[in-house]
Amino acid sequence: MSYDDFHSGRTIKATRKPHTCEQCGRKIEAEMPAYYAAGKYDGHFYTQHEHVECRAAGMAYAETTDLWGEEFTWFQHADHDMRADFGPWLLEHHPIVAERLNIEPD
Ligand SMILES: [Zn+2]
Repeated sequence: MSYDDFHSGRTIKATRKPHTCEQCGRKIEAEMPAYYAAGKYDGHFYTQHEHVECRAAGMAYAETTDLWGEEFTWFQHADHDMRADFGPWLLEHHPIVAERLNIEPD
């Protein structure tokens, strides 16, 4: 982290262009609501979009596991063991997001 790092995000009512969701890896259609964030980390600017439901699931999972920052769980990049951890939780609490990640009940 450097001293001028920042991160800010907000929910927007409709994106102008389609984007890829950072959390599930699927497309967010244009004109759909989305969570949009921008920031600077280690000198690099970045922007990201997430489905509103995926954002909610990601934040709720971070609250549950207390994994933030570099430890934050990005569902689409999770390995097999991590999927085994959050899969059942997602199915129970955020079934829409579980479906986007192709997580199936046992
Ligand atoms: Zn998503």
